Amino acid sequence: MSQDQSHQSVSGLDVLISGGSMGGLFTGISLARSGHYPTIYERSAGALKSRGGGIVAQQNIRRFLSDHGIVDPEAITTRSHERRFLTESGDVERAVSETMVFTSWDALYRQLRDAFPDERYRTGTAVTGVTPETATVTIDDGTERTADVVVAAEGGQSTTRAQLHPSVEPEFASYVAWRGVVDEAGLPAACVETFDETFTFYQGADQLVLAYFIPGPDGETAPGSRRLNWVWYDTFDGRDRRAIFTDTSDTERRFSVPPGRLRDPIRHRQRERAATLPPVFETLVNETPDLFVQAIYDLTVPKMVTDRACLLGDGAFVARPHTAAGTAKAAGDATALVDALASHGSVDDALAAWSRTRTEYGTTLVARGKQMGDVRLNLD
Ligand SMILES: Cc1cc2nc3c(=O)[nH]c(=O)nc-3n(C[C@H](O)[C@H](O)[C@H](O)COP(=O)(O)OP(=O)(O)OC[C@H]3O[C@@H](n4cnc5c(N)ncnc54)[C@H](O)[C@@H]3O)c2cc1C
Repeated sequence: MSQDQSHQSVSGLDVLISGGSMGGLFTGISLARSGHYPTIYERSAGALKSRGGGIVAQQNIRRFLSDHGIVDPEAITTRSHERRFLTESGDVERAVSETMVFTSWDALYRQLRDAFPDERYRTGTAVTGVTPETATVTIDDGTERTADVVVAAEGGQSTTRAQLHPSVEPEFASYVAWRGVVDEAGLPAACVETFDETFTFYQGADQLVLAYFIPGPDGETAPGSRRLNWVWYDTFDGRDRRAIFTDTSDTERRFSVPPGRLRDPIRHRQRERAATLPPVFETLVNETPDLFVQAIYDLTVPKMVTDRACLLGDGAFVARPHTAAGTAKAAGDATALVDALASHGSVDDALAAWSRTRTEYGTTLVARGKQMGDVRLNLD
């Protein structure tokens, strides 16, 4: 590590990153390309498997891909040019001209993963404890490693966050998002036509559904090879939360039931409920082979840095999906961290400045997501 007081920057840091999904990869790539030495520990063995969903490719994500020469963002994104609101019978109630850019989790993950060296990405390796004062991590094989800085990019169920902030708990927002992805090639032509180049919504009394095109799993963007991604926010409507979140192996899950793990009666019940949606959304839900469900939570930490340990991405703040900002926030956290190290004369000053600005950003975003969701689901 070197600290250049005259140029006010820190370089050559040894950084241990816990979590190798979006947040860990954005951080690892930007640190490596700024003269630092990141190593990523990812608890899953092998490549991460998509939950299949779409991601709004906010401008900072696209800039990250092009600035680092990872891929031309055009190659893995789709666009809509109109935001449309349908009536219950499926007519267009309102249309607003607006360009949105979308990608898929799997296409983006693949690009980021390919841009980070294999020898610095350790799969099947979970971090079980952190000593923030010395930037030391304990790995699940019992070994310890000490670096200059630790970054925990462990997602909403981060164990490092639980260790550093034991009183912080994700708060359930009282509704869920049912989700699905379907190949456009298998859909009726009228359905494809309705959704093409649009970001389409239906707002019911206590539900909200939306759909947009995303690329195919390898980033394919040509018509015919794309997928339609839908998200259906719904209240429990008298149903038992425990029953919905108990998966095919009879395990009750707290946060989500991934594709392939919903029990048949639960999937059938939700498909039946699709009859309350405009017909084109009902078709979409019924043509989707694999529904999955995610509980909506809010999460806020009071600060993102404790000594030499940082919390980043969903490990620090979980904002509701209405903000379309989870992945963009992880990218923003990563680039802001590298910028702070490049513009401060000491690691501690850089981390303190980063924590201040990104904690403020995360707190504001979570509050905005709560407000958006509660209004849309009539939960006020
Ligand atoms: C497999 C997967 C699929 C997803 N699919 C979608 C999608 O389709 N649409 C969407 O909008 N969002 C999806 N998300 C969520 C989305 O990636 C995040 O909300 C957002 O990008 C912020 O990412 P993150 O890196 O902070 O957290 P996450 O993406 O949740 O990643 C956290 C990572 O940390 C690892 N980890 C956790 N604890 C430890 C530990 N102790 N030691 C080592 N590793 C640890 C986890 O295995 C995981 O890979 C998905 C996340 C994952 C992990």
